[in-house]
Amino acid sequence: MTVQPIRLFGDPVLRTAAEPVVDFDKELRQLVEDLTETMQGEGGAGLAAPQIGVGLRVFTFDVDDVLGHLINPVLEFPDEEEQDGPEGCLSIPGLYFDTKRRLNVAAKGFNSYGDPVQLVGSGLMARCVQHETDHLDGVLFVDRLDRARRKEAMRAIRAAEWYDPGNPPLVKVSPHQTRGIFG
Ligand SMILES: [Zn+2]
Repeated sequence: MTVQPIRLFGDPVLRTAAEPVVDFDKELRQLVEDLTETMQGEGGAGLAAPQIGVGLRVFTFDVDDVLGHLINPVLEFPDEEEQDGPEGCLSIPGLYFDTKRRLNVAAKGFNSYGDPVQLVGSGLMARCVQHETDHLDGVLFVDRLDRARRKEAMRAIRAAEWYDPGNPPLVKVSPHQTRGIFG
C-alpha cells in the first residue's frame, strides 16, 4: 500500500465531509505515508485523504520545498487580504481556473503522533491549505469560483475525457511536475 488511485470528480467520496481523526496510531501514519507518496507521484502540491477514498480529516502538502501533513485542521485568517490566481486539482485533472482565496492563513491541527502543530502560510501555501481543508468538507475548488468561471469550469469538466457521470472513474492521473496543482 503506497501510491493509491486518485478519486475523480463525480465520485461521491469527494462530496462527503470527512470524520475527525480520533486514533493517532500506526494506521494513521500509514495513511500519511500513502498520501505523501501518491501526492509526490502525481506531482501535486497537496492531497487530502478523501481523494484516495479515505474519509478522515488528513491532508499532506509539498509547497515551496516544505513537505508535511496536517490532521484535523482548523483554519484562522489573520487578515482580510485576498489572492486570485490559477488553481487545479488532482481530482479534476488537466483543468485550471483562477480562484479567489485568502492570502494568509494560520492553520492549527495535529501531526500523526497527536502533537499539536501550527502551520502559518501565505500565497501558494495558504492556497494549498484552503484547498485541502475544503476537500475535508466535501468542497471542491470549482465551488469557490464566481458564477461565470464556474459555468466555464463545469462545461470543461463535462467535456473532459475522464468524466463519466454514470460510472465514477478511478483512473490514475498521469504524472506531471507542474507546481501549483493542488490535490
Ligand atoms: Zn483538490
